[in-house]
Amino acid sequence: MTEKTNLYDLSFDELTAFVTDLGQPKFRAQQVWDWLYKQFALDFEAMSNLSKPLRAQLAEQATLHIGHIVDELYSSDGRTKKVLFQLPDGQYIETVLMTYDKRRTLCISTQAGCAMGCVFCATGQMGFFRHLTVAEIVAQVLYFAHELAQSGEHVTNIVMMGMGEPLHNYERTLTAVDRLTDPNGFNLGARKITISTVGLVPAMRRYADEQRQTPLAVSLHAATDAERDKLIPVNRRWPIAEVLDACRYVVEKTGRRITFEWALINGENDTIEQAQALGKLIQGMLCHVNLIPLNPTEGYGGAPSSVENVDKFQEVLAAYGVSSTVRVRRGIDIQAGCGQLRNRVVKNSRDVPPPTIA
Ligand code: SAH
Ligand code: SF4
Repeated sequence: MTEKTNLYDLSFDELTAFVTDLGQPKFRAQQVWDWLYKQFALDFEAMSNLSKPLRAQLAEQATLHIGHIVDELYSSDGRTKKVLFQLPDGQYIETVLMTYDKRRTLCISTQAGCAMGCVFCATGQMGFFRHLTVAEIVAQVLYFAHELAQSGEHVTNIVMMGMGEPLHNYERTLTAVDRLTDPNGFNLGARKITISTVGLVPAMRRYADEQRQTPLAVSLHAATDAERDKLIPVNRRWPIAEVLDACRYVVEKTGRRITFEWALINGENDTIEQAQALGKLIQGMLCHVNLIPLNPTEGYGGAPSSVENVDKFQEVLAAYGVSSTVRVRRGIDIQAGCGQLRNRVVKNSRDVPPPTIA
């Protein structure tokens, strides 16, 4: 049996070819496209302006598979919801919806696991399984878009800060971004999608050359190579100076501000020395620093910084003219650090994933 085509994998032109191959006129492709990206239909049955035989034909030859929902968790304040999806080959990914103020922000995954091995990160601790397809990236968004639409709401922001390193899966991630920002489709503003990277220098330079308008966040976490080597193994390949050169190149090419992510770890990277070193490195740059007290994970002994250290760190940065924000860890009570929910379900992260669920 040939595998069904996942329609979320197709561009508009590819969908048109698919629909005309079924013997249908071209305008049907536009109808299906609208159902996918404007109405967020999650099955063919809902596509009420298509004939029954066409719906049946689509169901036979195509799929809108999103994954099987294994677990859903809400934070105690009810504002953060996390879903653990199991993909057809048994892999797990996590997607988080945060509802604060008027924003409906999704934190989505780009890989099952991650190859970068950052020591403090639950996803890094589980290792790399595989890249997600365009369909798997896009479907996470459409699933929540469908859910929000039930109460007249819509996705306002997306952060690629779930499982995986987005720039390690460059083609598919950026194809998904192009899909989600398509004015004839989902139509989210490019500036509403933040891509977070651990600092893969060649990919960052490519991103700059393509003059991408999606904001870039760079996970720096340390201002000296000795410290960053301990936390982020890939620093040995692309040390801080190279990452920052690439950041300057991104700013120059895109005109957009870079955000630096900094998980504050007690007694580790939250010292005055680190703050001063960071201030010296990035002063004058078009940038902003997000300070996030570490979210403790099972595989790493570090603890979040004290409030006093966070304040001091911020003060030092301010003295260098560097702006920063302390981020609250949303939904900490639901293992909202990505990778943590999956690790709870798959107790031994090196276990072979369970068999496929049809
Ligand atoms: N791979 C990308 C995006 C996914 S991780 C990256 O590393 O940027 C999203 C963010 O969460 C990164 O800034 C990452 O460093 C941070 N992070 C990972 N584990 C964390 C933890 N336990 N506590 C706080 N931040 C963490
Ligand atoms: Fe991968 Fe990002 Fe986690 Fe590092 S912090 S292991 S790059 S997901």
